[in-house]
Amino acid sequence: MEIYRLPALSDNYIFLLHDPNQKIAAVVDPAEVLPVLEKLKSLEAELVAIFNTHHHCDHVGVNQQLIKEFPQLTVYGGVEDKGRIPRQKVFLQEGDPVQFAQRVGQVLFVPGHTSGHIAYYFPPVTTGEIGELFCGDTLFAGGCGRLFEGTPAQMVKSLSKLRSLPDNTRIWCAHEYTLKNLQFAMTVEPQNPDLQVRFAEIKAARGRNEPTVPSMIGVEKRTNPFLRWDQSSLQLAVNSQDPIQTFARLRGKKDRF
Ligand code: ZN
Ligand code: FE
Repeated sequence: MEIYRLPALSDNYIFLLHDPNQKIAAVVDPAEVLPVLEKLKSLEAELVAIFNTHHHCDHVGVNQQLIKEFPQLTVYGGVEDKGRIPRQKVFLQEGDPVQFAQRVGQVLFVPGHTSGHIAYYFPPVTTGEIGELFCGDTLFAGGCGRLFEGTPAQMVKSLSKLRSLPDNTRIWCAHEYTLKNLQFAMTVEPQNPDLQVRFAEIKAARGRNEPTVPSMIGVEKRTNPFLRWDQSSLQLAVNSQDPIQTFARLRGKKDRF
């Protein structure tokens, strides 16, 4: 399975999964039509699936148009998003398998940003290979999604699930927010040496206009404040000893950042 990252709108990424043997492709959260059609054309591939993570417009906005081009394609999404994802055909819940090419992914139910949000995790097939996580707007490089439809407790549970994946899992998140996220992270954990190094690297990369997605779970665990609610440095920064309150206060600070 090859993965292509297609920039869309102002800061979205669409991920295109490609199976060169069968000449088929799938997209995760298509925000725009043209980049998808162009990529498919250059690969000479047929689009067979859309994997949606949640119902927001910048993730499902062109389902309809893509179906017009490829009437046979199947739209996947979470069962809790029933009625909110255009042309959804498969209604997924925690643990359900999804297949693309030779890979079998598993669905993780990760509410918080929205009430029906899911993520798609493709574990490594052979040892030495790495897993791939498509997590929409739940976990970002250096940050996490806003809580539009969920509680801090829900989001902590969801992020705990993602945090427990192997360190070398690649994080394909749906937005290029990394620099802004790390600017915030530096305000709450300025003494974290891993964060300092990462912040400098990301600043340089963005200065060269390079993408910072995918990230890795291991990196996020060391530097992303929204996976570090149980670290004393962060609890101290928001004056709490409770993990969920710590998370909630961090999220609140970030909302006002
Ligand atoms: Zn969203
Ligand atoms: Fe989004």
